[in-house]
Amino acid sequence: MSEIFVIVEHRLGETRDITFEMLWKAGELAEKLSHTVTAIILGHEVNSLAENISDRADKIIVFDDERLKNFNADIHKEIIYGLIEESKPALTLIGNTSWGMELAPCLSVKTNLPLATDCIDIMPKDDTIIAQRQMFSGKIFANVSFAESQGCLLTIRSGVFPKDKIGDRKAEIIQKDYPFTDMAVKKSFVEFVETAAGDVDITQADLLVSVGRGIGEEENISLIKEFAEALGGVVSCSRPIVDKNWLPKYLQVGTSGKTVSPKVYIAVGISGAFQHMAGASGAGTIIAVNKDPKAPIFRTADYGIVDDLFKIVPVLKDKILEVRKG
Ligand SMILES: Cc1cc2nc3c(=O)[nH]c(=O)nc-3n(C[C@H](O)[C@H](O)[C@H](O)COP(=O)(O)OP(=O)(O)OC[C@H]3O[C@@H](n4cnc5c(N)ncnc54)[C@H](O)[C@@H]3O)c2cc1C
Repeated sequence: MSEIFVIVEHRLGETRDITFEMLWKAGELAEKLSHTVTAIILGHEVNSLAENISDRADKIIVFDDERLKNFNADIHKEIIYGLIEESKPALTLIGNTSWGMELAPCLSVKTNLPLATDCIDIMPKDDTIIAQRQMFSGKIFANVSFAESQGCLLTIRSGVFPKDKIGDRKAEIIQKDYPFTDMAVKKSFVEFVETAAGDVDITQADLLVSVGRGIGEEENISLIKEFAEALGGVVSCSRPIVDKNWLPKYLQVGTSGKTVSPKVYIAVGISGAFQHMAGASGAGTIIAVNKDPKAPIFRTADYGIVDDLFKIVPVLKDKILEVRKG
């Protein structure tokens, strides 16, 4: 029996969704491989975060210290290296986030463990694992196996696993002291600047109505907004819509936008280029409206309407409003 480490990511006192997603996957793998799940929290005044996930891990190791108030990859690397040396976990999961993208490579160099980045799945194989990641902006799915080593590091793409609890666990919470007296750090935290997130977060929406270049003109976007509103959903879009400044960047889905995982994704006038679909493949059900029957989106969509969106969307909207009125 070995451990699966999950590096808990948090910001401004809140556990980030990627942590729950990694704990879900770690729980699933732990059951299949007879491993245990160990969550690692580094921060200041983070005991409530440990309580919050105590039913999702077998062990939680907490380093609570003023010097860990803000993320610093130099310090995280040294502390996590110490834990990996001590426990030799089978794998260590880190978010493929701004934290993880900085931490994982230097941790890989320090531990000499193999690293696969931006993984979208992890499959057990015999006693070990295969990591799946996308290459060439999502055109190719690569299954990565690891040369024999005492563990490996994986960074996990946000939004690819559920946030639900898996299994029935009761973590032992272990408090550890900050291990260094005078560690020389090359970086220091200056300030946290929130990006222009806008008033909606498309990564959290259950229903997205996504609009593409097929909408033709900026003034037609209102049709999609009304449709989304009738459904109780949120508007998102493909990249050309952002490039034309018709909608803000934070609504863009895809490799250079956001990865979303709504229950329902309605793509209107979107061709289904792989750069777009890479961000939408986590959707539960994909419904496409496109007048071209050969549009690539129909290869991925669960349901498709081959017709002019200007004919279909107003009818759907009116029908939904009618049903809602009862
Ligand atoms: C490095 C890189 C990163 C990229 N990142 C992203 C990204 O993050 N997100 C993203 O979306 N794209 C991204 N792209 C761009 C991507 O390759 C596509 O160009 C883009 O997704 C196409 O957007 P679209 O489907 O809206 O437009 P189009 O490909 O032009 O498709 C429009 C569709 O609308 C249909 N249509 C037209 N009129 C109607 C109508 N009246 N009724 C119904 N259907 C109609 C057409 O049949 C067509 O299929 C990236 C490209 C590169 C090179």
